Amino acid sequence: MAARVADLLKRHRVTHGAKFRLADCDPDDDGGAHLKTQADDLLAQTVEQIRALQEMLYAEDLWALLLIFQAMDAAGKDSAIKHVLSCVNPHGVSVHSFKVPSPEELDHDYLWRTTCRLPERGKIGIFSRSYYEEVLVVRVHPEILKSQRLAPELVTKRIWQERYEDIRNFERYLCRNGTLVRKFYLNMSEEEQRKQLLERIDEPEKNWKFSARDLEERALWKTYRRVYEDAIRETARPDAPWYVVPADKKWYARLIIAGAILETLESLNLRYPTPDPTLRREMAQARRRLLADRRGRHSRR
Ligand code: AMP
Ligand code: MG
Repeated sequence: MAARVADLLKRHRVTHGAKFRLADCDPDDDGGAHLKTQADDLLAQTVEQIRALQEMLYAEDLWALLLIFQAMDAAGKDSAIKHVLSCVNPHGVSVHSFKVPSPEELDHDYLWRTTCRLPERGKIGIFSRSYYEEVLVVRVHPEILKSQRLAPELVTKRIWQERYEDIRNFERYLCRNGTLVRKFYLNMSEEEQRKQLLERIDEPEKNWKFSARDLEERALWKTYRRVYEDAIRETARPDAPWYVVPADKKWYARLIIAGAILETLESLNLRYPTPDPTLRREMAQARRRLLADRRGRHSRR
């Protein structure tokens, strides 16, 4: 990976949550002087390297990658996912968006619906929102807990601490089973969200994205900041880091996300499987037969 991108990633990666403060992260960070002029080239290079490594991930069939995207509305989750993973073989990737849970989903424990959609070995799974909503929107609106059909004795003051613990353990478990978990918080400023929501109203082709509910959630901006900060503090670990991605400049957010995915793939030392002696023998035989077959066809003409 380009040294410049690797260097920038260090600023945004959180591996030990205890000292993390969202106030230290500038949503408008753009990596400093002159980066913008090189950004398109750097992104294209990074995306191409992701594409090549994803083929190996698929061929080797040992590891899976789970990429979780969380953000306030209109931060650009979906367009970032589209840009960064546009070149990857679609067979190797799955994308799932998690909305308000259905009655069937509420009939299960809260990790059930995401567990059903975890990526298989060899694949990259992308979650647009995730089980983190259970300590974000649900924490901001505790009345949602009532719809979750939990026995009253299970809903105590410790419920959020218990959920952070569940999530830490779940991510540890995934890691120990060969699924690497990387989490992205697209850190957008309140002002940038105002502009993006206005665009949804003013540009006809974006009207479909508008939801009046987005304004209700926006009114709770500070509360959301607090619960995001807590979630990151409680769940950032060396084996399941958060990347707090400055999201006011989309080109920068995409570069950081692509860099983080590449960094993760590179950490796996992926290679194409080498054929064992039996497969080598079978291939040699098959090769001889295929060559002879061609000669036969020519002489029959
Ligand atoms: P969007 O991603 O804009 O389509 O919105 C999906 C909505 O579903 C967001 O407002 C989320 O907060 C909400 N949502 C996602 N997961 C949950 C959950 N577990 N409980 C309640 N609301 C959720
Ligand atoms: Mg939305």
